[in-house]
Amino acid sequence: MGLRKRAAEEAVGSEVIVMVKIQVLEEGMENIKLLLKDCDRAFANALRRTLMSETPKMAIETVRFQMGSFDLCLSCGHLNPAAAARESAGGSGCNQCEKKLEKEGVDFTVWETNGSLPDEMVAQRLAMIPIPTDHKQFHYEETCPNCKELVPEDRGCPACNMIYTCKAFGTEEGITVTAGDMIYLGDQSLEIPEHYRDIPITKLYKGQMLEFYATAVMGRGSQHAKWSPVCGTAFVPRQVGILNNKTKAKILWDLNLKINAKDFDKNGRLEDQEKVETLARELYHVGDGTENKVDFKEAITIEDVPGEFIFSFETDGSMSPQTALEMASASLAEIFGSLGVDLKAVL
Ligand SMILES: [Zn+2]
Ligand SMILES: [Zn+2]
Repeated sequence: MGLRKRAAEEAVGSEVIVMVKIQVLEEGMENIKLLLKDCDRAFANALRRTLMSETPKMAIETVRFQMGSFDLCLSCGHLNPAAAARESAGGSGCNQCEKKLEKEGVDFTVWETNGSLPDEMVAQRLAMIPIPTDHKQFHYEETCPNCKELVPEDRGCPACNMIYTCKAFGTEEGITVTAGDMIYLGDQSLEIPEHYRDIPITKLYKGQMLEFYATAVMGRGSQHAKWSPVCGTAFVPRQVGILNNKTKAKILWDLNLKINAKDFDKNGRLEDQEKVETLARELYHVGDGTENKVDFKEAITIEDVPGEFIFSFETDGSMSPQTALEMASASLAEIFGSLGVDLKAVL
C-alpha cells in the first residue's frame, strides 16, 4: 500500500522526487553489497522485487531434440541413418566415404538418442543454465524491432533469440554432458562462460547420444524463475553500535573478543558495517540469559540508522550484479513512468 501511494506521489510531478544515493560496499563477480541512503523501506523493497521479477534475462525457452538411431561409420565418423546404409539391409555403405558397413563394432557402431534422463528433464536443466545476457544486442520478442509486429508464433530473429547446439556421445564408463558442450551459433563472447561450463546436463553411456538445438529468449522472473537473474536478494537497516556506558562496557572488553573500546569513535559510535555485525554477535555474551546481563544492562546498544539500508544480492552468472542493478532500475523507472501516464489520464 505504501509503495502505491508513494509511486503515485512521484508520478504526479514530472520530475523524480526521490533521489536515493547508492554506495557499493562490496562487489564480486556474482555478488554485491550496497548501502542505500535517503531511502525508505518501500523503495528498497520495490528495488528488491524488481530485481527478482522484472530484470530482463536470457534463458532457454524451447529445445528441439533430434531423435533417431544412427550407424556411426568408424572410418570417417559420418552418422548414417539407422540401418539403411548397412550391407545386410541392401545399403551401399557409408553415405560419406562409401565404406561397406558389415560388422557392428568393426565397421560401424550403433548410436541411439536415448539417455537415462527423459528429454523433458534435460530441457528443465537447460532452462536453469545461466545464459550470458547482452542487453544491448538482444530484446524481448514482443519489443524486438524485427518481430514486434508479428503474431507470437512467428517471432524469433537474431535480435531476440539465441541458439545453442549440442551433440554428445557416451562412453563405456559414462561421460557427463555439461553446459560447456553447448555451442553458441554466433559471436564467441556469448558462449557459456568458463565458470559455468561444468554444470551437468546428463550422463551418457556407450551407444547413447544426445543432440539438440536450444533457443534462449529474453524474459522476466515474474513469468518463470529461470528468468530471474538474482538470488538471496535482501536488505536490512544499516546499524551502528552506541557506547552508552564506558565503565560497564568493560565487562564485554574483558571477554577479549574482537571488538573493543578503540573501535568506537570519540562520540561513542561504531560505524564500520563489518565491525557492527561482529559486535552484534559478540553482544550475545552479555545479552539476555547470561550472568553478565545483570551488570552490563544497556552499556552498548545497536541502533538502526533511519533512511539507510544494506542491500545485497547475488546473480546466477547471466550478468554482472552491476548490470542487474542498472536493468532493474530502468524497469522500475519504466513502471513508475507508465503509472504516471495512467494517472494523468485519470486525474
Ligand atoms: Zn564413412
Ligand atoms: Zn526478433
